[in-house]
Amino acid sequence: MPIKVLESEVVAKIAAGEVIERPASVVKELIENSLDAGATQIAVEAQSGGVELIKVSDNGAGILASELELAFHRYATSKIGNLDDLEKISSLGFRGEALPSIAAVAEVEILTQTSSQTVGSYMYLRKGEVLRTESRARPQGTTMTVRRLFRYFPARLKFLKSANTENSHIANLISQYALAFPEVKFSLVLDKRPSLRTTGNGDLREVVSAIYGSELAQRMLKVKQKDGLAKVSGLISPPTLARSNRNYLSFFVNRRWVRSPLLSRATEEAYHGLLMDGQHPIAVINISLLAQELDVNVHPAKAQIKFCHEQAVFSSIQKAVEETLAKTPIASSKAMPFSVNSGQWQSPRMIMDNEPVFAVSQLPTLELPLLRVLGQLANTYIIAEGPDGLYLIDQHAAHERILYDQILAQWSQREVEVQGLLQPITIELSPREEETLRASKEFLAEFGFTIEPFGNRSYVIRAIPALMAKANIIEIISALLDSLASKQNPNPWEEKIAQSLACHGAIRAGQQLGNEEIRELIKQLEETKQPRACPHGRPIMIHLSSHQLEKEFGRIN
Ligand code: ADP
Ligand code: MG
Repeated sequence: MPIKVLESEVVAKIAAGEVIERPASVVKELIENSLDAGATQIAVEAQSGGVELIKVSDNGAGILASELELAFHRYATSKIGNLDDLEKISSLGFRGEALPSIAAVAEVEILTQTSSQTVGSYMYLRKGEVLRTESRARPQGTTMTVRRLFRYFPARLKFLKSANTENSHIANLISQYALAFPEVKFSLVLDKRPSLRTTGNGDLREVVSAIYGSELAQRMLKVKQKDGLAKVSGLISPPTLARSNRNYLSFFVNRRWVRSPLLSRATEEAYHGLLMDGQHPIAVINISLLAQELDVNVHPAKAQIKFCHEQAVFSSIQKAVEETLAKTPIASSKAMPFSVNSGQWQSPRMIMDNEPVFAVSQLPTLELPLLRVLGQLANTYIIAEGPDGLYLIDQHAAHERILYDQILAQWSQREVEVQGLLQPITIELSPREEETLRASKEFLAEFGFTIEPFGNRSYVIRAIPALMAKANIIEIISALLDSLASKQNPNPWEEKIAQSLACHGAIRAGQQLGNEEIRELIKQLEETKQPRACPHGRPIMIHLSSHQLEKEFGRIN
């Protein structure tokens, strides 16, 4: 084909593909516009994951009738005027791409009113074309209604996840912006159900409470650090409050929500030695810097930013979090329960009663030999002797494998042992967790969980799988919902659930075990189908053969 400049309709669609990845991207662009327009109240509504309907109403500045059509032109913006402005952006938007991009892939209605006009204006667009404009009444502000997103883009539609998953992305997005703007009153309604509501009174802790629950909010610690290149403020969890993934780390740079491994690392460094392996803090951190210190124009959806002085930002955050943690009693002593994992070895405990545990496995290739337990090392590894040398067994990985096999076996035979709770447990879910729970409730029931709604994003847990009887149920449920919400893992659901339950229900590294417990663990391990690797594929044991030992000690060559 000869080279030619693409027609504007094609260009618009290509651009829309970059800016609008999924329904939550539309919501993001619309609420950024509302915030840029100075709104103090933003109401969001979505239906069927945002594919059928997204509606955002604000009480911001509004758009003049004379500029309404222009707002839907590519690169039309009121936020920057020249090249200098690009160097010091203080608004969330600046590329002038959102409205034309949304209009290119959906049906759009806009109703808007400014403070200076007698009547508001209304416009209706389909596939980027203006089909109707008229005068209509509205109090000051703007309402954008987006319908039938991607209707004419079957390829994009196909890539969207279930409505529940898309809802959970929207719920998470609004939660993040509510955290970034505590002085703005947000409300979110998903499929006609109220999902989130904040007061807009400016109190960050109250927003945390609305999203993560009041108990968690009360325990969060205040961070404040004024000197240095970056001002840091916000709330962080004490070391006794942790989560199994990084979904609870929120960072806002000059009030822009960013996902940044750099900022996560800076925060987590400060918790070093205070959390167990696989645990992550909860944090809501605002970083404010001079606009010249960052480049926000590095990503079409503005999801990433670049710092001019990365290292200085890193240190400011780490220092701010460390100082807050140092003020809390548990952290200042780098308390005992947490130190076992920081690589500190304790002298092994020998078990005197050395009776062998008998292997019962029938599987020829993977079979575990007859093992005689010698003791526990660093409260983490079991030392055992077999006919051909020494075995070091990771107690957490071993137990994880045992539970994983048992959970899946009970589930596939429809024989899940259930344990009713005499004292039902109440759990408060975030808007995003609630969406995930709604999507996975039946599946969780198959695994033995009875979870009932209790109003206001509270749920009552009445029964759990018997295999989880000893575990921390609230932690298990939140880890489970997190793992189901994350899209990285394409496993079938049952494997994902079993993996998450096994991982969080298993004995931890650093936990001291009695002789009987160790023997029982080894016995059960011998009964599993794959006793040498945990469900994540990590090895469960290290074997030093008699031959290797003899070689190492120079007994043979
Ligand atoms: P950008 O936000 O990058 O300027 P958009 O395409 O998102 O580009 O919006 C184009 C323009 O329309 C904005 O610059 C702003 O002037 C106007 N606008 C969009 N949404 C709103 C709103 N909710 N309230 C007031 N003005 C708005
Ligand atoms: Mg915008």
